[in-house]
Amino acid sequence: MTENKKKVAAYWASSCGGCDVALLGLHEKIVDLLENAEIVFWPAATDFKYDDLKGYPDDEIDITFFNGGIRTDENEEIANLLRKKSKTLVAYGSCAAQGGIPGLANMSSREELLETVYTKTPTTHNPEGLIPSEVSTRDGVELRLPGLQERVRSLEQAVDVDFFIPGCPPPPNLTQKFLGALLEGELPEKGSVFAGERTVCDECDREWKGKSISEVRRPHEVEIDPDVCLLDQGIICMGPATRSGCGAGCPEVNVPCKGCFGPPAKVDDQGTEMLNSLASILQVGEEGKGLEEERNILSGLRDPIGSFYTYSLPSSIFGGRVDDGGKDE
Ligand code: SF4
Ligand code: SF4
Repeated sequence: MTENKKKVAAYWASSCGGCDVALLGLHEKIVDLLENAEIVFWPAATDFKYDDLKGYPDDEIDITFFNGGIRTDENEEIANLLRKKSKTLVAYGSCAAQGGIPGLANMSSREELLETVYTKTPTTHNPEGLIPSEVSTRDGVELRLPGLQERVRSLEQAVDVDFFIPGCPPPPNLTQKFLGALLEGELPEKGSVFAGERTVCDECDREWKGKSISEVRRPHEVEIDPDVCLLDQGIICMGPATRSGCGAGCPEVNVPCKGCFGPPAKVDDQGTEMLNSLASILQVGEEGKGLEEERNILSGLRDPIGSFYTYSLPSSIFGGRVDDGGKDE
């Protein structure tokens, strides 16, 4: 082990674990990383404990890849600890960068979520209607669970973040680009997003014919033309409201972009950006009937929040239905 090895950490907060797998998915590049780096904390892959982390001096870790949003008191505690122990903190993946899919839970209060998950789902067998509590006692022993916070936050909404690598999960080429810059000592300015500046449409090969649409259709309802823009075919594709950098991999295989890279540079709110794009292509004819016609077309859109903010609700201007106190906003 050389003196110059970078000390690297990775952590998994409220997420599915796919971003940890994405780090392992660097294939042969992980060998380059391990040659030049020393893993000092990575609970999903190695046997480090929180006490190991607490024992490090401040700024001991050169780089931490933090994936997952902040949903529990434990997530927040470790985010603060890693911030203190790391020179550079990276929000890795959509959940850390924008709140991610778990952030859609911000449309429900904590109580509604717990009640649904523990008593209402068809596969739940819970005749006593028990809902976990933070503190409980069993055989005289007090048991504690991390507190479930009122809402999901992105990492930046909890602690200071240096860089962002978006994606669900981030594609290997962006992680490799970041590692290359790190190892060469050529990281860009703080706050940079390791992705493109423009939109997924800018890197999509499908032809946009600029047609207006008379109905919103779901992918399974259409025999998709593989060469024509999905929006032209009435399918909601988040490409116009999503940051470039993935190479438009989803539309390339007939799957509409769901927006996992978050909004493009200089756009604050992905959902309103998409609404703007959509409004400009709705087919409305006779004067005076526009609003009614728009409503009819948009009635085909089953879940506007879930469609427009799949990955970015916590970091959007709207933010969700509940505030930090669990009240309707
Ligand atoms: S809307 Fe989707 S399918 Fe159309 S150009 Fe943009 S990314 Fe491609
Ligand atoms: S096309 Fe959209 S959903 Fe698919 S990887 Fe790219 S940004 Fe994510």
